Amino acid sequence: MLISEGAGLRVHSVDAGTMRLDGGSMFGVVPKPLWEKRIPADDRNRIPIAMRCLLIESESALVLVDTGVGNKESGKARDIYGIDNAGEPTRLESSLRAMGFEPTDIDLVVSTHLHFDHAGGHLTDDDGEIRPSFPNATYQIHRGEWAAAQTDNLRILGSYAPDHFLPLESFGVLELIDWEHEVIPGVRVVGMPGHTEHHQGVIVELGSDTICYPCDLVPTAAHVKLNWIMAFDIEPMVTLEEKERWLTEAGENHWLLVFAHDPTIASARARPASRGPGCELEELATDSDRIQVQNESELE
Ligand SMILES: [Zn+2]
Repeated sequence: MLISEGAGLRVHSVDAGTMRLDGGSMFGVVPKPLWEKRIPADDRNRIPIAMRCLLIESESALVLVDTGVGNKESGKARDIYGIDNAGEPTRLESSLRAMGFEPTDIDLVVSTHLHFDHAGGHLTDDDGEIRPSFPNATYQIHRGEWAAAQTDNLRILGSYAPDHFLPLESFGVLELIDWEHEVIPGVRVVGMPGHTEHHQGVIVELGSDTICYPCDLVPTAAHVKLNWIMAFDIEPMVTLEEKERWLTEAGENHWLLVFAHDPTIASARARPASRGPGCELEELATDSDRIQVQNESELE
């Protein structure tokens, strides 16, 4: 879906499928009676989440931010995480084709971080042969995240599948980057740590408007509440500081936020919080073309 355009850039959200993740993990210390009002759980206590990637079109390049789960997960993992992303070969590629793009058209793949639900689609299993899913793309990954993802730390091991990204190096398509890297003019990655130490978001300047893709710093619209922080985050106090900083800036400047995991709300306009740091939301939009203008308070 086209989210916005300007300054020679067009920004789309791209459907890479859905998953089901444990509701308690998604909301950390927030009690279930509060979070289940926002996103109800199934009989295994899982909530539906989207895998919503970002596609940025400019005259010179086609940029894809994150790639969903891909097609390399085992049947067991697909059941535990309720992964629903089948397509040609995955929903991501099918969604791109429906928008008029082939995987070969992608020039740059930018990773927010290397967790399996964001980087699993970097590579494709083609009848047992692993190949880059976007054969003409350079893959831009933060150098700290690249190192951290090869961890043997038991706390974070389960979120990474090195087989799913390490081969990028041997294919010669890997570019290690740092925060504040300019991807293309008007598009930059910024440090938004906490979820992982080197987690990064993407800011797109459209002239009169700014789009912010905070990815897992603010995975759903419900997580705009500053203290609603995922249990997955390795540095939750850093997440809190980063949310205060970025959501206050988003509210003051009325940025358009795009949510990677919200099951219904694809994007929303930030406005200053009525008191304190952070922001509130308006102009909530679903993935369909229909824009629903409603207040965040209607979701409570
Ligand atoms: Zn995620």
